[in-house]
Amino acid sequence: MSAIATKPSKTADGLRETREYMNFVDGDWARSSSKQTFENRNPADNDDLIGTFQESNESDLNAAVDAAHKAYEGWRLTPAPRRAEYLYRIGDILKRDKDKIAREMTREMGKVFAETKGDVQEAIDMAFLAAGEGRRMYGQTTPSELQNKFAMSVRMPLGVAGLITPWNFPIAIPAWKGFAALITGNTVVIKPASLTPLSVIMLAEAMEEAGLPKGVFNVVTGGGKEVGEPMLKNPKVAVISFTGSTNVGREISMACAPTFKHLHLEMGGKNIIMVMDDADVDLAVDGALWGAFGTSGQRCTAASRIAVHSKVYDAFVEKLAGRAKKLRVGYGLDPKIDMGPNVSEGQLKTVQKYVKIGQDEGAKLVAGGKALTEKTGTWDYSKGFFHEPTVFADVKPDMRIAQEEIFGPVTAVMKIESLEEAIAVGNSVRYGLSSSLYTRDVNKAFTAMRDMYTGLFYVNAPTIGAEVHLPFGGTKDTGNGHREAGVAGLDVFSEWKSIYIDYSGSLQRAQIDTEEI
Ligand code: NDP
Repeated sequence: MSAIATKPSKTADGLRETREYMNFVDGDWARSSSKQTFENRNPADNDDLIGTFQESNESDLNAAVDAAHKAYEGWRLTPAPRRAEYLYRIGDILKRDKDKIAREMTREMGKVFAETKGDVQEAIDMAFLAAGEGRRMYGQTTPSELQNKFAMSVRMPLGVAGLITPWNFPIAIPAWKGFAALITGNTVVIKPASLTPLSVIMLAEAMEEAGLPKGVFNVVTGGGKEVGEPMLKNPKVAVISFTGSTNVGREISMACAPTFKHLHLEMGGKNIIMVMDDADVDLAVDGALWGAFGTSGQRCTAASRIAVHSKVYDAFVEKLAGRAKKLRVGYGLDPKIDMGPNVSEGQLKTVQKYVKIGQDEGAKLVAGGKALTEKTGTWDYSKGFFHEPTVFADVKPDMRIAQEEIFGPVTAVMKIESLEEAIAVGNSVRYGLSSSLYTRDVNKAFTAMRDMYTGLFYVNAPTIGAEVHLPFGGTKDTGNGHREAGVAGLDVFSEWKSIYIDYSGSLQRAQIDTEEI
């Protein structure tokens, strides 16, 4: 059992039993050897205790790695189409339980129900995409330079994959990483974000129900220092895949360097929507609203910068500010609500800090700007970490609010005079995740598509909206050259082996300058 009931607690929708959730190691649900737990509370309603979770330590992590290491031989040798059958089953279970999982995720993390359903849907999509790869996983066959010799390349798994995941996509990101790792023949140990352990436990429950062999997928909850760092040191972990902040990503990179662990980093973003004078302004406002305030702005692809041509600037700012003010903020399980809380008090404080920085820098606050702290007809905001959707106008590209990742419901609108200026502003940040252009001019669209140095680019759509069958990731301080999702996601969890089969019956020497043909 993933959890045991402890005591009843008051929740946003009544009285509910509180549960103590376990780690999932070697196919069993187990307590940490620390015998300590930590609490996880609803960010919209701090009275609502989601549950208590194992405050694990290095020895718990090492036990999970040992289990994954032991399971690796069997899993590696399970034919990929058979591995795929487990993933199809997991996808079906997630589909069946989508609403239930999404509801718990909204409680755990705060984003609105439609968005948490989208999060689960991404996990479902990735389960089926990865499962399909079980019958493809193409390598290359190619002519040999010698007669009677066959040449090909095949993917091989790496071993134990260590996954460290964030809280903003609590099941989608673990699924993106986990399913790609599993289909390529690796076993997995995952450390979920301490703010969202339940979502990953629900993923492990689906794996257990699907009959995944013991030790193939393991979950250890606990802190970055206590569980994450030991994972980086453990010699049996062959590859680390991390999504989170650039600062932690840099530390992880350094910790992995001495042992040359394979490493995939997916980090911050400061994404831009560029609106040209020929754009459909209403469409661009729709996109900006969704891009900036979806998931309360807590997406690595959030549209936290908007560059608007001077000819449509005033109209755009007026419409965006008006629409932002009308967004309904509250508890994400209420279908009338557009935007939930920030995930934690820490994130709320970061947002407040940046609002002050923006004002001090001289940007013009045209919507929002305040934390919500009172009880209203909509919700008792004092119980959570709510902030108004906030729009700054007249922002200069070098202001901190236009350069630094805020990760909250704040966007910075800048005035530009041309596409060239928009592209220069767009590329002027340290991150390179996502960018988008609103225009009706195909020449402008293709120019920006070529010149934006970001891993994702959209035309007439906001900076968010990635689909699982294309590579996902970014340049510069956003990533370290790898991508997840799509076929590219398999590269993180596999190595190429080139194979030569000589059926000539004689010694043939490649790379020798010879005329013997
Ligand atoms: P972090 O980078 O701190 O955390 C991400 C994951 O790394 C969590 O599982 C965390 O564990 C773990 N971790 C933290 N420190 C270490 C460590 N030293 N070694 C190994 N693992 C570690 O992100 P936060 O959740 O604190 O968010 C902070 C900022 O990161 C945000 O404001 C945003 O800018 C950015 N971010 C970007 C995301 C993206 O999608 N690119 C996603 C989330 C955050 P634990 O939860 O236990 O601390």
